[in-house]
Amino acid sequence: MTKCDIWYRSDTRRLWLTRRDFSVAATAGLGSFCAGCAVNPATGDQQVMLMSADDERRIGAVEHPKILKEFGGAYEDPKLSGYIAAIGGRLAAASELPDTRFTFTVLNSPIVNAMALPGGYVYVTRGLLALAQNEAEAAGVIGHEIGHVVARHTAARISRAQVTQFGLIGLAVLGSATGLPAGTGRLANTLASLHLQGFSREQEFEADTLGIRYMSRAGYDPEAMATFLSQLRAHSGLRAKIAGHPADSVDQFDIMATHPRTIERIQRAAEAAGPKPPHARNLYRKAYQSAIDGMVFGDDPDVGVIRGREFSHRALRFRFSVPEGFRLINRPTSVIAQNERLRSSIVFDMDTRRSGGSLSGYITRDWAKRRLNDVEGFTVNSLPAVTGWFVMDTKKGRMVVRLIAIRAKRSQIFRFLFISAPNVTERLSRPFRQTTYSFRRLTSREAEMITPLRLRVQKYGRRSRKDLLRRMQVESHAEGWFELLNGYIADKRRSAGETVRLVV
Ligand SMILES: [Zn+2]
Repeated sequence: MTKCDIWYRSDTRRLWLTRRDFSVAATAGLGSFCAGCAVNPATGDQQVMLMSADDERRIGAVEHPKILKEFGGAYEDPKLSGYIAAIGGRLAAASELPDTRFTFTVLNSPIVNAMALPGGYVYVTRGLLALAQNEAEAAGVIGHEIGHVVARHTAARISRAQVTQFGLIGLAVLGSATGLPAGTGRLANTLASLHLQGFSREQEFEADTLGIRYMSRAGYDPEAMATFLSQLRAHSGLRAKIAGHPADSVDQFDIMATHPRTIERIQRAAEAAGPKPPHARNLYRKAYQSAIDGMVFGDDPDVGVIRGREFSHRALRFRFSVPEGFRLINRPTSVIAQNERLRSSIVFDMDTRRSGGSLSGYITRDWAKRRLNDVEGFTVNSLPAVTGWFVMDTKKGRMVVRLIAIRAKRSQIFRFLFISAPNVTERLSRPFRQTTYSFRRLTSREAEMITPLRLRVQKYGRRSRKDLLRRMQVESHAEGWFELLNGYIADKRRSAGETVRLVV
């Protein structure tokens, strides 16, 4: 990722479009039908908006299911989601749009991230909530996302993207929108990539400033925004250590990739918010600890669990393992295992759309859509299977691709793609075969036994640190996780009456 240490200039009153963009837009006759060139109530900015508040709500509603799909759906825990919605409600009431209807969702994902969509949709993952040490830190994140909504950052970016990319036709479609605009599909694609790309640095700084403003007004200690940022950095460091990567590397789906921020910027935003009012010193740690007690930690068995080199899926009832040196990653529609050193990977997924026909017909016509070498049938733990291979030129050079299709039911085909650089294909042939034969269905009893890990909050009591560490069920780096989840970075001392989080 690119490190972000560029200071944002002090002038926060600015146009969303640069003067040049604006004159282009004006020449195009835009000024006459743009949905509004309004002054934003939160930022005082004059915004050239091609999208009305109604358009924003519609786009939010279209995008909402996509976010749910990408991040494991909503986390079903009425107590926790009610608690988060209450925090969000207090912050929103303190914003410049107290009457806007916001929708707050806890996403069932171990990834650490938060995001917002136009129209008042705000999301935090349970992975992020596990890191926050108190309610004020969670409020900082939620306030930041509300800030993006209030400042209409997504709409501003889309408007700009429309001006530069789609030209007048796209604009006309948007400008005349009364129902769902005809260009929504294209627009939605833009949006989907925008929310993962993140906002501009200026927008991030602005969202921090607004988040801190709302936190302060709602009675939270605004410094929690900065302490939470330290937590995020510590988390990135631990993740990198676990993956054996340099400490400053960040997953592309992680909040540090979409929200690159520095402590200095947060502090600057806090200063901009003015002196802390005497009542605004609340962290609400106790309430927060009890709200997240019992929350699922790490993978959810119903979307698949990774334990070392083994992948198990409770709902679809199967399991397989990958060769040594391959790192498993669970994505919404596939499971990927990579070995960067050998430039090789495994992609596993399921096809339920096509049924019937022979498996060899399926593998060539429906899947590979090309001639394959050495197509042959075999069985994997008594399930019919077929395999074949071909050579393909990719961005990473020439690759040997082996396909395996395993039919579990008439309309359920499990698939492995084994992709290897030609110089290691021979060497990986046996490990790849072992992976193929490791695939098996689970009995319902075996499937039930795959249970998620959970956060448990308990009194520190008289237990020694060693005792507590022994109870941590994480796969590795128990001490690192223990310190991270308990915010030990900032505070090494704990009293017997203080609560502590464990993963059990
Ligand atoms: Zn942001």
